[in-house]
Amino acid sequence: MKIKYFKARLIKTEHIDINEECDSKDKEEMKQQIIKDIKNQYGSNISVELYYMKIEDKITRIIANQNNPMYHPLTCGNDSRHTPLVPVREGDKIVLICPDCDYRQEYIPF
Ligand SMILES: [Zn+2]
Repeated sequence: MKIKYFKARLIKTEHIDINEECDSKDKEEMKQQIIKDIKNQYGSNISVELYYMKIEDKITRIIANQNNPMYHPLTCGNDSRHTPLVPVREGDKIVLICPDCDYRQEYIPF
């Protein structure tokens, strides 16, 4: 598998997600850099867990969030009354597509 998503969790503070694309040969280096960046930002005594998320798992999670009434769904940038955005796999990337118009969004905030 060429592309992995890293998910980072900050223990006992807030919880953030960081999505990074990388080749598997660089993944250890990328992991260390992500941990370093988090510690620089939040303090060196914070503990950081990093794990991979497969693209299929990420799509499943986006769909679950879009259908969860506890969350405000990600909506169309042209008209927020359109049907909530749907994740679509494009190669090794995920894009969000509006089913009602041509709106597409590459930024996925979770
Ligand atoms: Zn739309």
